[in-house]
Amino acid sequence: MHEDLTDNTGKLSHYRNDFPILGRRLNGQPLIYLDSAATSLKPKSVIDSVCHFYREYTANVHRAIHLLSEEATEAFENARETVARFINAESREIAFVRNTTEALNVIAATFCSHGPIAVPLSEHHSNLLPWRSGKIVVLDVLPSGQVDLADAERKLSEFRPRIVTFSTVTNAFGVRQPVAELTAMAREIGAYVLLDISQSIGHEPVDMQEIDCDFACFSGHKMLGPSGVGVMYQREGLGMTVSPLLVGGSMISEVHRDSYSVLPFPWCIEAGTPNIEGVIGLAAACDYLNAVGLVNISNHCRSLMTKAREGLLNIPGVRIHGGSENMTETIVSFSIKGIAAHGIARMLSNRFSIMVRSGYHCAQPLHEVCKLPESVRLSVHLYNTQGEIESLVKAVSKIGEIA
Ligand code: PMP
Repeated sequence: MHEDLTDNTGKLSHYRNDFPILGRRLNGQPLIYLDSAATSLKPKSVIDSVCHFYREYTANVHRAIHLLSEEATEAFENARETVARFINAESREIAFVRNTTEALNVIAATFCSHGPIAVPLSEHHSNLLPWRSGKIVVLDVLPSGQVDLADAERKLSEFRPRIVTFSTVTNAFGVRQPVAELTAMAREIGAYVLLDISQSIGHEPVDMQEIDCDFACFSGHKMLGPSGVGVMYQREGLGMTVSPLLVGGSMISEVHRDSYSVLPFPWCIEAGTPNIEGVIGLAAACDYLNAVGLVNISNHCRSLMTKAREGLLNIPGVRIHGGSENMTETIVSFSIKGIAAHGIARMLSNRFSIMVRSGYHCAQPLHEVCKLPESVRLSVHLYNTQGEIESLVKAVSKIGEIA
């Protein structure tokens, strides 16, 4: 790990050396990775922790009593403690799943038969489609992409949903949703609250004791951790628990010819052999993020995005999606009049070695309601630099000239 952990200037560029992939050159140019909202790069400590499991103590967890299995089980359960501490939760409040999508599907499968569900149109498809087998109360969004609080207040009191769910930060435009206001409204009518925190986690401190929610979920791969591991948080003492979607080994306490009983949360959600190395890598990611400091990361990303916004707005034909207020410091989405978003992303990749995402970002209804075309999305993390943002702005400016 890098020794210089504090940086008063808010610039964290010295951490770049911890990310081996950033040494790669494409067509003789340095790789510029501006797609962290889709998935983040991985520091060496995360890669090493996964390799260490493979090289030194590969074994299944919670099963055998041989030494390697004991070591793997200990590492796995220690990782649960680390990940829980990262969000200021208890380890018995978090279950390991594959990703945010799986967590949302598990929770939706429990709630869809329990009454109406309120969800804004700004959500990622992963937080819209799983609810379609229930009765959905769609919360309107403003042209900025933010939930329309007046509409939400009216609909919540009229339809009295059992659960209200939304993302703290939308992935498409990077809009911050009014978390405190919406959760307070949900509490007024006695609804449960489920938060998708996958675009906040790893970029800013997240404290489950401060956020008033019952369920939350996020993916490891967006927070410097491995793919294939995510977290479902369920607050202890809710008086209810989600039902498992999968049944099988590891999640049962007893099985008889005609009956079986399941373990309590979180183990009832973790059927079958889990992604052991993924969980261990996720804990290493939490340690790394803590060492860099989440406030440092959020300040650093904010200065990058401010520069990006200013630079892009000076380019003729560029339109930034979302409003100018209540935006996250990690995502900027834009379109250029007359040039398709995928074409821009392709040129950025082929000619400038800059990786960005283009399209509807798995949030097509949001684009429809805001009457916006597909966009180019740049998203940053602690390893990006001001110089990279300058290169991006120059490249977009050159592409804009052909419009
Ligand atoms: N919700 C949000 C807000 C997201 O940004 C994403 C990933 N783009 C998801 C859900 C789905 O995450 P995953 O693909 O890791 O399940």
